[in-house]
Amino acid sequence: MLPDSKINWSAEDSAETYRLEDWNAGHFSINQDGNLEIECQVNGTDVRVPIMDIIKGMQDRDLFMPALIRVENILDHSLKILNEAFKNAIDNCGYQNVYRGVFPIKVNQQAQIVEEIVRFGQPYNHGLEAGSKPELIIALAMLENEDSYIVCNGYKDEEFIDLGLRAIQLGYKCFFVIETPTEVPVIIRRAQALGVKPMLGTRVKLSTQVEGHWQKDSGDRSIFGLNSLQIIEVIDMLKEADMLDCLQLLHFHLGSQIPSIHNIRKGVQEACRYYVSMKHEGAAMQYMDVGGGLAVDYEGNQQRSLNSKNYTLDEYCNDILETIMMTLDPEEVDHPVIISESGRATAAYSSIFLFNILDVAHFDPVRQLQEPPKGSDEKLTNLRAVLEVINPDNLQECYNDANYYRDEIRHLFQHGQVELRERAMAENLYLEVLQHILRMAPEAGVLSEEVERLQQSLTDIYYGNFSVFQSLPDAWAINQVFPIMPVHRLNEKPTRQATIADLTCDCDGKLDHFIGDESTLPLHELRDGEDYFLGTFLVGAYQETLSDLHNLFGDTNVVSIRIHEDGSFEFVHEIEGDTIEDVLDYVEYDIKSMKERFRRTVEKAVRENKITVKTRQQILKSFAESLTGYTYYEVE
Ligand code: PLP
Repeated sequence: MLPDSKINWSAEDSAETYRLEDWNAGHFSINQDGNLEIECQVNGTDVRVPIMDIIKGMQDRDLFMPALIRVENILDHSLKILNEAFKNAIDNCGYQNVYRGVFPIKVNQQAQIVEEIVRFGQPYNHGLEAGSKPELIIALAMLENEDSYIVCNGYKDEEFIDLGLRAIQLGYKCFFVIETPTEVPVIIRRAQALGVKPMLGTRVKLSTQVEGHWQKDSGDRSIFGLNSLQIIEVIDMLKEADMLDCLQLLHFHLGSQIPSIHNIRKGVQEACRYYVSMKHEGAAMQYMDVGGGLAVDYEGNQQRSLNSKNYTLDEYCNDILETIMMTLDPEEVDHPVIISESGRATAAYSSIFLFNILDVAHFDPVRQLQEPPKGSDEKLTNLRAVLEVINPDNLQECYNDANYYRDEIRHLFQHGQVELRERAMAENLYLEVLQHILRMAPEAGVLSEEVERLQQSLTDIYYGNFSVFQSLPDAWAINQVFPIMPVHRLNEKPTRQATIADLTCDCDGKLDHFIGDESTLPLHELRDGEDYFLGTFLVGAYQETLSDLHNLFGDTNVVSIRIHEDGSFEFVHEIEGDTIEDVLDYVEYDIKSMKERFRRTVEKAVRENKITVKTRQQILKSFAESLTGYTYYEVE
């Protein structure tokens, strides 16, 4: 016979429960066995790979949870649709120039990601954006295609500037986006010294404010960009040095994850006015860089909210081009090359973070009710009596009484007047009363907010083998919501409501905000001896780069996979996560001296006859082995 959870529950029900169709963007689906699959097109053929098969392949290679999977096919697909959407929009609007994307390296600096973007992006001349010297070094070493652009943002010292000028000597189109007028004299001096004509742009500070996470950092209070006075200052300095023809690009970045297309349109319109005016000033304007900001619909509700957006990719491209044409055409200014620095939208979908559940804390009463033993405190008997009288008409009263008696018993316990067993019975009776209230609440009238929130306080806590701070830092830092769901058992009804706690000893190390503005996630009961795996999706942007070592949980295992036309997949790269030794080294411990200090402690124990020499050897061996182990929970 099928267990209850399997009756009348299908893959479609799971898809609906986890709102898969809303956020998956065609990359994920559930098969009839209840497994979540990665879906992609390879050479025109639809291919699906169950995530459980990838987990199995990783386990066979001794790569255990938690782990990050990077799917190269998805990364390629994101690059392709971005470039094609701009190309289509250009064709449709009759725009008289081309699109050149640049990937902002800071969004995911991992070598494999940047390499793949450069490789796959080559036919589109997709370039790189660098915000620092190390990122420029990456760009110079990785990009071979001279038709791809390098855009240098951020504050630039002489060394940074020299590197960029050398890139121009080598034939690259490498732009310096001027962030502050103080950069200009250095650029002029170094350009003259090296005899190189620089390609310059200005980053303008638009007054357009955008909604979203970074609202207060946009507009006049933005910490980046030049205001109109500073742009004039830059123009005058370049004019003076007879280098105004080097000023060719206008750059702006309204902020990341912009939820409203209206804001984008307004920003582009304002930027166009700067573009036209700079041209009137004599600058040789040819390029407009619209920065990042193209949002990812993490929630999938297509709304103007923090984790969503109210526009499609096609709309984004069309609106940018149309706005430029509407502003420049009347001025008879040629259409510029359009550059965008989309990071999030390029990288987010391609990474999946997987972890296993180690344990669950339930808030259900643990045993069937027993009568309080004779001689128990009468408050315990009274608490028991609440259960006898509870009905939909007196829920609030019963809730108040149960709280009162439970608190009294806790108080008596603190003063040594009731024993541990009585306290445990009181806690259990209390939970029993709450469960009754929850069951009867739909039939009851108006209830206090406290009672309304009961469901929340009784939800399970599932303990996940991961660190929020290491793997999903934005979930902690900016309350970013990511789609999370089990990757298997999706033909079974999830019968529990849960929040998720991580391994760190930190109250913030939890996930309790899920898509659809839910505070709990439906999950399955754990089964003895069986793993339960959850996937967190759309984590390819910013999460790897912003992570930290809280509690010394290090980098997780990573695999990059490529899916082939015949449905097979290949582990193109495997990176083992940090060992304990690695993370100790990051925080400046010297492993050799740690081993030596520990050896002395163990030797002392031998001298003091606490342990034998044989035990000493075993202890030292375990210590040495631990140093090379994974920082996460390892299942023997
Ligand atoms: N360009 C610049 C200058 C940025 O600061 C950022 C990130 O905030 C980006 C591009 C990438 O933005 P997004 O990931 O929203 O595309």
